[in-house]
Amino acid sequence: MQRQTVFAFVAGGVAAVAIIVAVLLVANLSPAGAQSSPDVSAWSPTKAVPELDVYYPGTEDLAPDEMRIVALGTGMPSVRPKQAAACWLVELGNGDKFLFDIGSGSHERIAAQKIPYDYLDKVFIGHLHVDHYGDLASFWLGGTTMNRLTPLRVWGPSGATPEYGTAVALQKMQEMYVWDIGTRAGVIDFRGGELEVHEFPFDGVNQVIYDENGVVVRSIPAVHGLDGAVSFILEWNGLKFAFSSDTIPNKWWVEHVKGADVAVHECFLPPTLLVTKQGFAPIEALQVGTQGHTSPEQFGKVMSMTQPRLAVGYHFYNDFDTAPEVRQRVRKTYEGPLVLAVDYMVFNVTKDEIRVRMSAHDEEIWPSPALKQKNPPDISKAVEFSDFTKSGALAFPEIVGPIYDEINQIYGTNHEPAFK
Ligand SMILES: [Zn+2]
Ligand SMILES: [Zn+2]
Repeated sequence: MQRQTVFAFVAGGVAAVAIIVAVLLVANLSPAGAQSSPDVSAWSPTKAVPELDVYYPGTEDLAPDEMRIVALGTGMPSVRPKQAAACWLVELGNGDKFLFDIGSGSHERIAAQKIPYDYLDKVFIGHLHVDHYGDLASFWLGGTTMNRLTPLRVWGPSGATPEYGTAVALQKMQEMYVWDIGTRAGVIDFRGGELEVHEFPFDGVNQVIYDENGVVVRSIPAVHGLDGAVSFILEWNGLKFAFSSDTIPNKWWVEHVKGADVAVHECFLPPTLLVTKQGFAPIEALQVGTQGHTSPEQFGKVMSMTQPRLAVGYHFYNDFDTAPEVRQRVRKTYEGPLVLAVDYMVFNVTKDEIRVRMSAHDEEIWPSPALKQKNPPDISKAVEFSDFTKSGALAFPEIVGPIYDEINQIYGTNHEPAFK
């Protein structure tokens, strides 16, 4: 009796391993050691581990033919510690880096990549929901104190009328932050505060919106919210990355994303879970979960019709209890390679392999250095205090003077405090 129990457990364990191996093989992910004994010649008791199964940002070269995709926001509209709202980083072996969506909470994840902000100068926004561009202002203005000296370039769709488009939204964002800009512009080198906005027609079908340095980004219309939502397709070096932002299944995605290497498409929670976990009324759950967003079954159908090398579902709270149900529902309509993304998931993509890992991150992030020589601040942009506010400042010259002396001595400068 005892023996039978043990045997059953072992058999169950073997079956579980077999299923995992089968999933890895089907997904064309790295089935490391699955088929033959591992090569241990590179291992040593005193050397670094030869191959890491965790990604540590900033520690790995990108091969010239490689694309690295990092999930920096995979959750629902509302931010939570485990998942920020939509944001995907695509890094290419030619040195170019692209952010697709920059939803609430994602700036923190971007910073964790330890990439100099001057390299992160291209943001593509799929639509103007806060969970898709809520951290743009933080990244844009915060970036000016994180050593960005290159203008931030932002691409986004038009709307049904100009006031629903990206250009007006970002013009108003700049007006909204006029106080913030007033505090910085005359005090630091503010070249990184320049915003370059590229609005393109939302109804362009497979229209080229970016074509530089061998990289082409196209937009296709999305069906989500209102007129003025799009999905993106990036192609470089024979690799194709597609990002839905938000959309329900649509003919443009099916036609133009076909055969993508990595297709990142929204995959919302099923309406049943929107009711029980999210607290939606049944009608809200059905409307939001199938008519405004893509349910797991709809996601699977789209992937079956487009057959990417790897299908990636995102935009749901991906937990131990939700993921199995989402996966099982996707499997009703799709049998191919599948990953359900969480924040900090990393995809290394070449023509031969798509490797998926989780990344570790450092909590104590400091800015990477400025990549250009810093200019002195443009004093003409400084906004003065009124006499009233100035009259309230306690200058403490006997305390602040030595602080200035200390810096002047170290750096051979001759700066003086504003408040005397
Ligand atoms: Zn949306
Ligand atoms: Zn969304």
